[in-house]
Amino acid sequence: MYIYMKPYPFEITSDQMIYAENLFALLDNNWTEGQGMNRPAYMAEGENRAINDLIKEGRKLGLSIRTDAAGNVFMIYPGKNPDAGALLTGSHVDSVVNGGRYDGPAGVIAGLTVVHALMAQGITPDQDFIVGIYRNEESPSFKQVSVGMKLASGSLDPAEFMERRHTHTGHAFRKHLQASGLDPERLIDIFKRHGELIPFSSIAAQIEIHIEQERELSDQDTPLGIVTAIRGNYRLPGVTIKGQTGHSGAKSFEKRQDAGMAKNRLVSELYDEALRLRQSGRDIVFTEPYSRSGDSAKLTHIPDDAQCALEVRSTEDSVLKDFLSAIHRVSDDLQHQHNVMIDLGNIVYSAPATMSQTVIDAIGHAAQQIHIKTMLMPSGAGHDSAEFAKKVDTGMIFIAQKTGLSHRHEEDMGRDPDKTFSCEGDFAKAITLLGQIVVNGLNQNARPGSFVKKFDEMYAPTGI
Ligand SMILES: [Zn+2]
Repeated sequence: MYIYMKPYPFEITSDQMIYAENLFALLDNNWTEGQGMNRPAYMAEGENRAINDLIKEGRKLGLSIRTDAAGNVFMIYPGKNPDAGALLTGSHVDSVVNGGRYDGPAGVIAGLTVVHALMAQGITPDQDFIVGIYRNEESPSFKQVSVGMKLASGSLDPAEFMERRHTHTGHAFRKHLQASGLDPERLIDIFKRHGELIPFSSIAAQIEIHIEQERELSDQDTPLGIVTAIRGNYRLPGVTIKGQTGHSGAKSFEKRQDAGMAKNRLVSELYDEALRLRQSGRDIVFTEPYSRSGDSAKLTHIPDDAQCALEVRSTEDSVLKDFLSAIHRVSDDLQHQHNVMIDLGNIVYSAPATMSQTVIDAIGHAAQQIHIKTMLMPSGAGHDSAEFAKKVDTGMIFIAQKTGLSHRHEEDMGRDPDKTFSCEGDFAKAITLLGQIVVNGLNQNARPGSFVKKFDEMYAPTGI
């Protein structure tokens, strides 16, 4: 029996790849050859300009645009059924200092290119398809990741965050909002009344396309990855060890209070602990991002002061919790053994996020329909999708990264030598895959209700 695969395979042509390349070119204002992309968040010549340029492109496509009180943008291609939950795709357009060309914008541009192709083929999906631009995902601007989506979902307290200073200008977040044409009081008011800035309940699913931040996919000769979970982390940016100095030749080995040696053993014992967990099949990576000796360090003296940072990441919350216990235990033991004081300092936690099995299956199914090879993988780095996963069925598609150099100008998604994207390339495959998911429809009956209607209700004047 012939089974009609609903509704037809989604295709893109070179028109779409030229369109996508032109959108990337629009964002090249902030690119310096040999250095990379500098697009700080909530700044006129940075993220704001990129967002305004992309909104103009959305308008050219005839999309209706909604901007929430934190400046997150939603460009809506209406489906046949206005009451079906929307399928949202999107990513960020801010960058780290000297970042790559694709980290972030690839996800937004993929979404707009899918709309371009749907229009070219005269396809109207059943559910609304929304292309989102999520504000300030990278941490350098306000020393906080996913500012836009954390404000939208209620993970950040807006009143508190208003006073956070921008690292470039020293101005408060409040001032940057105003300079970006946004109203801080409105943000606080919408949040107070709704506990969120967008109607998450009418989003059927969110899928973020993002360039991979390593070169695992390239190594496996696989163009696209389906993310299963996003690693959470504990970060200890300022671990301090205090001991006592003494001559390194004269002082008895047993009586020393060697801060440097205690620091080294702390890191090495935690490394062994991480290895043990990995060998038992758990997901964990452990790093000592930096370490320093105290100012009084001398070649002939026992160090009385040592500092380091510790960072552990895992897709499993229980692994993170177990490892944090190990940090405390090892540090207590070493305090006694070396007769030093270990202050672990600030401990910053970010929860891991599990991607929705419904979305993972939908991505896998669509990839089979159009014969695109994929593999399942965790995301080592954080993304806005971790924030979405708290609220809606969420998934991510990774695009193979040729150099494996993330957050750097060498970041590479595989353009042709004439600087265009080919229809056979990995980026084209990601766009085609997303398009196929859109025509298939996803989760639309699980969370009914029009996003636009609910959004407009939330933002309607209260008459006060
Ligand atoms: Zn990113």
